[in-house]
Amino acid sequence: MEKIRKRRFGIIASLILVLVLVLGVLWASQTVKNNQTHQDTLARVEKKGQITWGVKADTKLFGLMNTKTGQPAGFEIDLAKAMTAQIAKQTGKKLTANFVPVTSASRIQLLKNTNIDGLISTMTITPERAKIVDFTNVYFNAGQSLLVQKDSNIQSIKDMNDPKYTVLVVVGTTAAQETKKYAPKAKVIALQDYASAMQALKSGQGQALSTDNAILYGLATENPDYHLVGGVFTKAPYGMAFDHNQKPMTKQANQALATLQADGTYNRLIEKWFKNVPGLDWHDLEVGK
Ligand code: GLU
Repeated sequence: MEKIRKRRFGIIASLILVLVLVLGVLWASQTVKNNQTHQDTLARVEKKGQITWGVKADTKLFGLMNTKTGQPAGFEIDLAKAMTAQIAKQTGKKLTANFVPVTSASRIQLLKNTNIDGLISTMTITPERAKIVDFTNVYFNAGQSLLVQKDSNIQSIKDMNDPKYTVLVVVGTTAAQETKKYAPKAKVIALQDYASAMQALKSGQGQALSTDNAILYGLATENPDYHLVGGVFTKAPYGMAFDHNQKPMTKQANQALATLQADGTYNRLIEKWFKNVPGLDWHDLEVGK
């Protein structure tokens, strides 16, 4: 009887030990994961000698993959390179810029997972997003507009406010939410990226594609049968973003941006990418003048 009791006690004790060990391992791995996620972005960047920027790869003028070079090109790519060089100067560390393509829907998660260090991806500063990421100061002024076929009778977002019309947007964009406010009766279809949204517009799945004017101008240059109508009906100031509570990194980025604006680099890049876009007044896009 005594033997059985002892054995039973032994088994229970072993089980408790195993449970404690398992919980210990789980707790330790969670702590490591949390530390990785919440580690200081500036310290991480300096340690690896590289800033990995999440950039657009499907957005002409901002970040568009060049299939020949295998590298993205656009205003934001150039600005990210200049920012990286300036932050390197400020910190006295060697830093190179590295690019990872993101979409509007994936970008915040990639930042949270530390797959990227920062975002420079046509991202509008909004109060909701500011709760989960740290934004820099504004580096670009856009606003939502509409792209329609040139022979369309649609002149503005108001004309779209009818259940017979469909507005095409991209998943994860401010346009996906704002369109419902400005044209509550219209149908809204959200596509994965701008290439598919443009394709949907061309194949007649909707009568208008809506997003920021500057992005639409990029699409219009490649699709001459389409043009922007109705001007802009929202304000969409772009900010670079870092993970939440990354003050040292955000401070460095703001300082770098201010320097690039003061020394003329920023202005040169705006002119390089936007000066010759038909219909676009590039002065409206500039910040800090
Ligand atoms: N700027 C808008 C946004 O942040 C639309 C463009 C985009 O998503 O990249 O949602």
